Amino acid sequence: AKLEHRGHYCYYTRSMGGEMRARVRLMQDLRQALGGGSLYLLFQPQISLGDGQPVGAEALLRWLTESGQLVPPDQFIPLAEDSGLIVAIGDWVLRGACQQLVALKNAGVGQFRMAVNVSVVQFRHPDFIGMLERVIAETGVDPANVELEITESVAMLDPERIVTLLNRIKEFGFTVAIDDFGTGFSSLAYLQRLPVDRLKIDRGFVGRIAFEGEGKNIAEMIIDLGRNLGMGVIAEGVEDAAQADYLRARGCHEAQGFLYARPLDAGTLLEWLRERGG
Ligand code: C2E
Ligand code: CA
Ligand code: CA
Ligand code: CA
Repeated sequence: AKLEHRGHYCYYTRSMGGEMRARVRLMQDLRQALGGGSLYLLFQPQISLGDGQPVGAEALLRWLTESGQLVPPDQFIPLAEDSGLIVAIGDWVLRGACQQLVALKNAGVGQFRMAVNVSVVQFRHPDFIGMLERVIAETGVDPANVELEITESVAMLDPERIVTLLNRIKEFGFTVAIDDFGTGFSSLAYLQRLPVDRLKIDRGFVGRIAFEGEGKNIAEMIIDLGRNLGMGVIAEGVEDAAQADYLRARGCHEAQGFLYARPLDAGTLLEWLRERGG
């Protein structure tokens, strides 16, 4: 079994039948959670490495089941993608993140960006652009402060379609980041054609910084690549000052990780920002 047992959400069992039943059960519960109140968002701050000031936050989804278990997104997002439920969940997440951004603005927080994860399934959905339009209209958010995080797997879809779609998204004013950058296999020639604002260095590469002695770290290569392509670069999973120093020295613009803050609930985020003089 790959995963530890988590109550009845142990779906990596030896029996395939048991696994199937557990998956179906999990999906039913998740569908209900979307209607009820057990899905919520946390917000993890992102800072500028230059001056340490907050620049934004990433919205991260949490699911607390009725029985009081916190199911990690790495477990339920893939299932939601398989079942298509991710489209409704993603809609809910974007709406909630935008509402929160508007609330922060009303609370006096100045220039601030909200990053939102977009699944490839959601991105490919025929009504994705329509969904974006509705969220803008209903929340009154300024899309210029909303960053959509897509993974490299999105960039692997039909190139013409992606470029067209990304251009539409950019016309609204959204910014776009490629999440977990370096873990996929997008070609450099292709990357150059994509209207992308930022590369997000996967936390796996950040964690390896101290161990890659000789030659250039992958993190460093991504920073150089971003600079050469005129894109911003943000590192995720920054846990200690040595990693932050390394990244700063090599020109990485921004960082996110436990060194600065864990994912916070909305109230705590506002306190955190105020302490930082925001
Ligand atoms: P991600 O987008 O790469 O998000 C970063 C993950 O790294 C988060 O885990 C975050 O809590 C964790 N993290 C942040 N800083 C540190 C650190 O310093 N050290 C370590 N070890 N970890 C750190 P989380 O919240 O469990 O999310 C896991 C993944 O689930 C996300 O990876 C993302 O792929 C997916 N996910 C989360 N929320 C959503 C969502 O609303 N929609 C979609 N489609 N996917 C989501
Ligand atoms: Ca992300
Ligand atoms: Ca990531
Ligand atoms: Ca990740």
